[in-house]
Amino acid sequence: MSFTIPECLFCRIVGGEIPADIIYSDEHVIAFRDIEPVADHHILIIPKKHIASLSHLAEEDMTIAGHIMLAARKVAEKVGIAESGYRLVFNTGPDSLQSVFHIHGHLIGGQKMGWPPF
Ligand code: IMP
Repeated sequence: MSFTIPECLFCRIVGGEIPADIIYSDEHVIAFRDIEPVADHHILIIPKKHIASLSHLAEEDMTIAGHIMLAARKVAEKVGIAESGYRLVFNTGPDSLQSVFHIHGHLIGGQKMGWPPF
């Protein structure tokens, strides 16, 4: 499951080239703390395979998509926010302000949040 591109920041984290505070890793995904957290817990969950965004997810990526969701559940349990609650946000495209084009879920929690998010 190793399709990576050298100029991608998150592919370089997957490859160990750029250090990260890794919370969880398995065959398909890796989860690490966001460098600019917006909450007490802010962890990015990414596939090891390079996929630019949710809009680029293909039918063949269905298993990877499932692994991302399951990893989110495991990470939430690991950092102790499974009961208090959390969000999993996939910024996708310009209106969402996606800035890194390697699909990632922002797992955000550890404090009370508001809604809507804008
Ligand atoms: P986006 O704006 O939804 O694409 O989210 C990209 C996220 O990546 C932002 O929240 C950044 O703070 C985070 N980020 C950028 N570079 C790094 C890094 O080197 N390590 C961890 N998080 C990063």
